[in-house]
Amino acid sequence: MTTHSLLLLPGDGIGPEVMAEVERVVAFFNKKGKVNFKTETALVGGAAYDASGVPVTDETVAKAMAADAVIFGAVGGPKWDKVPYDKRPEAGLLRLRKDLDLFANLRPAICYPALAEASSLKRELVEGLDILILRELTGGTYFGQPKEMVTLENGQRRAVDTTVYTTPEIERIARVAFDLARKRRNLVHSAEKRNVMITGVLWNQTVTAVHEKEAKDVKLEHILADACAMQLVRNPKQFDVIVCDNLFGDMLSDEAAMLTGSIGMLPSASLGAPDPKTGKRRALYEPVHGSAPDIAGKGLANPIAAIASYAMALRYSCDMGREADQIDKAIANTLGRGLRTGDIMQPNMRQIGTKDMGSAILEELAAIA
Ligand code: NAD
Repeated sequence: MTTHSLLLLPGDGIGPEVMAEVERVVAFFNKKGKVNFKTETALVGGAAYDASGVPVTDETVAKAMAADAVIFGAVGGPKWDKVPYDKRPEAGLLRLRKDLDLFANLRPAICYPALAEASSLKRELVEGLDILILRELTGGTYFGQPKEMVTLENGQRRAVDTTVYTTPEIERIARVAFDLARKRRNLVHSAEKRNVMITGVLWNQTVTAVHEKEAKDVKLEHILADACAMQLVRNPKQFDVIVCDNLFGDMLSDEAAMLTGSIGMLPSASLGAPDPKTGKRRALYEPVHGSAPDIAGKGLANPIAAIASYAMALRYSCDMGREADQIDKAIANTLGRGLRTGDIMQPNMRQIGTKDMGSAILEELAAIA
């Protein structure tokens, strides 16, 4: 039987609450007996700081490196507002991203039919939407040097950010885009600003070259990033995978996410390079939301983003696309029954808490899987 090792990092606030529901779904698949998930749980964020004085220990980082996938909850909260900057809860997540070299950030935007009314766009534009924004996460404008603010001789100040990319950085994210598209609807849009940015020219040429050499089976379209932003609200269903640099990806992924409603619904994944021996990529899966201190400990948190993050781990780290589809379907069916947590509550629906939402999804899953 295939065994997959998962490192669970629940973190702070609602992190442990939503992770508890993920664990029930993991247990469901273990009970089915087709594969075996071996899970281990460790502290991260404020919880790790309280226990060990750092937001993530070397030991936990080593476990994350060795695991097939890391499932992350959320970190942070007012309790740790005064801890030193380099030890704040979020630094634990940043260290994991850096040490695992997670350069590819995947943000799906899926619109469940039952929630189409909650979108700010018309139902027909978003109902059934399923697109994926792939953002380069470790290069570009946020990291390029020089990055500085200087005072000039005349007293004026000048600030500089530098956008810089090399071909290997673009090649590796392009490969991820084509790989992902093959597991979806086989279409990649590469978004850049080649009309005004020289990094955009290199981006365009490099993605084209990778496509020519390695991915002729996938359809590739080039689009200017600003046009892409417009098309996302005009006709989002034309897209499958959109790949872009760090800065444009930041904007476009937030825009795409909001097509679909609440933050409690949004999963994400960050992937690293494939291991030369096994071909497996290092990977961390996490809900987009934070630790929600305002509702923590009350059993109100929506566990769907966390459960959908686990479904992404099945799809992209465990080669279990069918089971991932089953989880997504179970979520859609649960919403279709009119069950809602507070964050996605609508008129005439029934409001339930974290555990009951987990139970309802498991019931639906049992009926499908
Ligand atoms: P947040 O995402 O925690 O909360 C924003 C709002 O959305 C809150 O009203 C919250 O109640 C609600 N919300 C979030 N997730 C929800 C869910 N699953 N179900 C129902 N409602 C949900 O963002 P914030 O308030 O800006 O930040 C709170 C803390 O989380 C801060 O310490 C911040 O630094 C941290 N944070 C962590 C991460 C992460 O761990 N990746 C991401 C963002 C923020």
